[in-house]
Amino acid sequence: MTNLQAVLDSIHKELAPRIGEGKVADYIPELAKIDANQFGLSVVTVDGKVYNVGHADVPFSIQSISKVFMLTLALGKVGEGLWKRVGREPSGSAFNSIVQLEQEQGIPRNPFINAGAIAVSDVVMAGHAPREAIGELLRFVRYLADDESVTIDDRVAKSETQTGYRNFALANFMRSYRNLDHPVEHVLGVYFHQCALSMTCEQLAKAGLFLAARGSNPTTGHSVVSPKRARRINALMLTCGHYDGSGDFAYHVGLPGKSGVGGGIFAVAPGIASIAVWSPGLNKVGNSQLGAVALEMLAARTGWSVFGD
Ligand code: GLN
Repeated sequence: MTNLQAVLDSIHKELAPRIGEGKVADYIPELAKIDANQFGLSVVTVDGKVYNVGHADVPFSIQSISKVFMLTLALGKVGEGLWKRVGREPSGSAFNSIVQLEQEQGIPRNPFINAGAIAVSDVVMAGHAPREAIGELLRFVRYLADDESVTIDDRVAKSETQTGYRNFALANFMRSYRNLDHPVEHVLGVYFHQCALSMTCEQLAKAGLFLAARGSNPTTGHSVVSPKRARRINALMLTCGHYDGSGDFAYHVGLPGKSGVGGGIFAVAPGIASIAVWSPGLNKVGNSQLGAVALEMLAARTGWSVFGD
């Protein structure tokens, strides 16, 4: 049996000289202020044990990782009907690319690129005022993490509202193809607030534990989704979770995962554990540089890759 705490400690120690590598996202002014010299890693096993190292208790902006939680909510609302609004194929392009959207008549490739996530937010908004949709997501994430202290950082949401020109372009484009039912400002209001969820590595690993445990959180007993749905969300994370870096992440790490420009990566070792890592410096495709390296080390040392040890 692997001594997980020793594995986490060794990863932290070996990466210590490299902490600060990569480039903090600066297109959202509030995120540009984050100190790059931080690194946290948390592993929660399906038997409920928590292993932390570094800044695992420091809240950070989870950004696109929120797309996993919003997708779970949308599937709960409309089921497989969701796939009329968004595809399930890897995009091979940047998270905020607009080119494909025109070629494919306003139907985004998958729910994890920005356009796809904006369409998913629109689905969750049905029958709600925007504020209620945000409230529903926040309640859901608190319930998943079993932690009422999870919050949304309004400064980050405001900062992105003021500068999210590309997301406005994507949303307007989709609306022109009638793939958004609500006004662009409202949908993006929800989307920017979901991205501004602020969580620690430990909270994030706990919130995503249901995906490692056939849809139920074994520590709280909460049944969240069916085993089949958990499996399918994991499949989407594996193929689409890192934009045009998804193939590379599968090659090096071999776990379903979802990244965010706040420098977080959430990953799942099915049947074993959920994992959250955070290091704000990003690589060229906008994924946490050291986060990906840490996960590669973790997968190698535990044999957790879904492709075999
Ligand atoms: N809120 C960010 C954006 O829309 C999320 C992108 C990301 O984390 N990759 O640009």
